[in-house]
Amino acid sequence: MSNDWTHKQPWQWSLSEITESILNIRAGRSLRPKSWPNGAKCAVAFSFDVDHESNELRDGAKSVTRLSWGQYGARVGLPKVRQVLRNAEVQATFFIPAVIAQLYENDTKTLVYEGHEIGLHGWIHELASDLPHEVEKDLLSRGADLLEKICGTRPRGARMPSMEMSRQTVSLLRDLDFVYDSSMMADLDCYEIDVNGRPSGLLEIPIDWSRDDGAYLMMDRFGGVRPYTSPEDVLEIFSRELDGAFEEGGLFQIVMHPHIIGYRSRIWILEELIRRAKAKSDVWFCTHRQLAEWVAVEPLS
Ligand SMILES: [Zn+2]
Repeated sequence: MSNDWTHKQPWQWSLSEITESILNIRAGRSLRPKSWPNGAKCAVAFSFDVDHESNELRDGAKSVTRLSWGQYGARVGLPKVRQVLRNAEVQATFFIPAVIAQLYENDTKTLVYEGHEIGLHGWIHELASDLPHEVEKDLLSRGADLLEKICGTRPRGARMPSMEMSRQTVSLLRDLDFVYDSSMMADLDCYEIDVNGRPSGLLEIPIDWSRDDGAYLMMDRFGGVRPYTSPEDVLEIFSRELDGAFEEGGLFQIVMHPHIIGYRSRIWILEELIRRAKAKSDVWFCTHRQLAEWVAVEPLS
């Protein structure tokens, strides 16, 4: 691969360079298994991105009010989420920036104690696509080390902050012994990520904005972003995704944030979604790691 295209403007690329730019990081073979554990009809994987203050820290910690919004996630949002999961006896995956895991070390350890999985969510919610190769490598490596120190086990999964990957991220995660990433959007089912047309060995548990609370409920005072969907409608959208996964025998994966879902007018969405999933009676609630381990070894459909 010449990578000449990276030094040109997009309108200067030849057709082969366009192909090369797309093939560089791409969904490879589908990892949709023939069956789920205990004969379940579909897999249900909840994930929570525990950003807390890291969104504002990444931007230079200029706004005290936005820092307090992040603190709400820790003080109120996360306890509400944990309470719902505890009542429902559901284990989930929490992706945490390393500095947040350290700042709230007791919370991180409590999540581990409660049976949840901890995955890496960057160092300080930095955007990987902005970083030089060596800096990204250093932050991922230090982040994995810090989470291991706090949790007692090395993280096996990562979700890149703001779902932004660089062209190096897949190779770096694989070299650091991560088993899966959960930042890409090329399928409804898990897949193996190909790098330059070859299987990378890294699994993808795909996300999508349609299954992300932030896409409907986020607020940015100066950026003009406002919540535009009612909580009832958000639940309906999530429920249809769940119903579809059940009918197809596939995967229902979802992303939520303690500082977004953890309000009195919203936390019931999580509660009701779990209730609806349980009402189907034969679904497999799993952490992302359990999911990655299952699809890696099961016969494929
Ligand atoms: Zn995040």
